[in-house]
Amino acid sequence: MLKNAPAPAFQDHADGPLDAMRQAAEECRRCDLYRDATQVVFGEGARHARVLLIGEQPGDREDQLGHPFVGPAGRFLDGCLEEAGIDRADCYLTNAVKHFKFKRLGKRRIHEKPNTGEVRRCAWWLGGEIALVKPRLLVTLGATAAFAVLGKRYAVTVDRGRIVDTEIGVPALITVHPSALLRSRGRPDAEQERQRFVAELGKMKPFLKA
Ligand code: SF4
Repeated sequence: MLKNAPAPAFQDHADGPLDAMRQAAEECRRCDLYRDATQVVFGEGARHARVLLIGEQPGDREDQLGHPFVGPAGRFLDGCLEEAGIDRADCYLTNAVKHFKFKRLGKRRIHEKPNTGEVRRCAWWLGGEIALVKPRLLVTLGATAAFAVLGKRYAVTVDRGRIVDTEIGVPALITVHPSALLRSRGRPDAEQERQRFVAELGKMKPFLKA
C-alpha cells in the first residue's frame, strides 16, 4: 500500500436497500477480484447495528459459503466477542474487500492481501453499508480495514485499542484482525494478546447501549 495514502473517499458510495446493494455487488466489476473468487461476500448483521466491524476480505471458507466471518478467524472472533460480553447478533460484520483474493498452491488457495487500488474501489460498497447501517462506532480489524477507513494516519501495531475520529464523522476503534492472533497461537505471549484483543472489543460496549 502507498505510504501516507489517504483513506478511500466515502462521498460516493453504493446506495439503496441492503438486499439491493448485495445483489448489485454480485455483478460488480470495479476491480479484477471477481474473476477468480466463487462469489461476492457482502456484510451481514443487524440492519441498524450500533457497531459495524470491518475485516480485510473473505477467506477461503467465507468465499465458499458466501457469508462473512464464518471460517476459523470468524469462530475465534465469536469466542472473543462472547468473552467481552458482546452478542455478535447486535453487530454488523463486513470486509473492506468483498471478493476473496488468493494465489493457488497446488490444490490450496492461499490468501493474498488486497492492494490499495482494490481497497479503494471496494470502498464503494463499504461506504454504502456504513451509510445504510448508520453505526455509532466502526471497528477496524487489522491494517487493511484501518486503511480503508483511516488511510495511513494510524498504524495498528502502535494505535490498537484507540478510538479515533474519522472523516465520515463516525469514530473508529482500531484493533488487530483475529486471523493474526490465530497465526501467532504458538507464541509465548499468545494468550496475553488474545486477552488484550478481548479487552479492546470490550470498548464497543458503551456504543451498544441504548
Ligand atoms: S472486490 Fe469489491 S470492487 Fe472488486 S469486484 Fe469485488 S465487490 Fe467489486
